[in-house]
Amino acid sequence: MATPDIINEAAKLIAEARRVLFLTSAGMSADSNIPTFRDKDGYWRNFPPFKEKNLEAQDLASPWAFRNVLPHAWAFYEWRRRNAHENEPHAGYHIVNRWIADRFDEAFIHTTNTDGYHLLSGAPLDQVMEVHGSMWRLQCLDTCTYDFWDDVSVPLCEMSYDTMKAWDYPKCPRCKSIARPHILMFGDGEYVGHPDQERNFQSFLGEPIDLAILVGSSGAVPTNDYIAVHLQSQGTDVININPDPTSNSIVRTDLFIPMTSKAAFVALDEAAFGKLA
Ligand SMILES: [Zn+2]
Repeated sequence: MATPDIINEAAKLIAEARRVLFLTSAGMSADSNIPTFRDKDGYWRNFPPFKEKNLEAQDLASPWAFRNVLPHAWAFYEWRRRNAHENEPHAGYHIVNRWIADRFDEAFIHTTNTDGYHLLSGAPLDQVMEVHGSMWRLQCLDTCTYDFWDDVSVPLCEMSYDTMKAWDYPKCPRCKSIARPHILMFGDGEYVGHPDQERNFQSFLGEPIDLAILVGSSGAVPTNDYIAVHLQSQGTDVININPDPTSNSIVRTDLFIPMTSKAAFVALDEAAFGKLA
């Protein structure tokens, strides 16, 4: 547990901050039961058909898989869509949204998560950058167009949990070929990106940021840590929320809160805004 002193110090910065950047990663969604598939044993246990064929998560989350083992590739994403649909954004998401609406002059969320939980929980559309895309959007597998589109249907395709194979795939409305998730996958040169989100994020970065709140980052994907380090060098305070004691090795902030995201946001909300929150 974080000492009350650190919670109080962080809460004071939150209460006084005007421009705030949230940098969220896998640990933000772990409290909503969204798996990361970094635990290989857990992954093999969940998906015996993938173990038989020695298909690791990184193999399936790739354009290669959509071309060569399409039924498995789509089943993997269909499984994740259904899992995200069966769970829901936890209290921490709603606290972030309330702070953005009521407490700060300007705020922005830069997330590496693809579960779409920030937008699903009600974060403003023009204040979120999903840097690795979202499982709730699709694009053409053959990139006949740079267009992408929303599709929040659950189920989206048919699938068997026994074989982890899918069928009845979504189609590109333009060329009628197969659609794929609008997600930056491994070895992916065909992800079309999200120009509006990118423009909004760059615009937010154009003025000084008082405070960055880094949440649930992992050493395997340190995208958000490097943004935090860059901001630190420009005078931005950084709060790091992460139950993993080794997760402060890149940003090395004194405001390290070794807690899970939901518990940390509840504690910070109470300390910063108390009963008024
Ligand atoms: Zn197409």
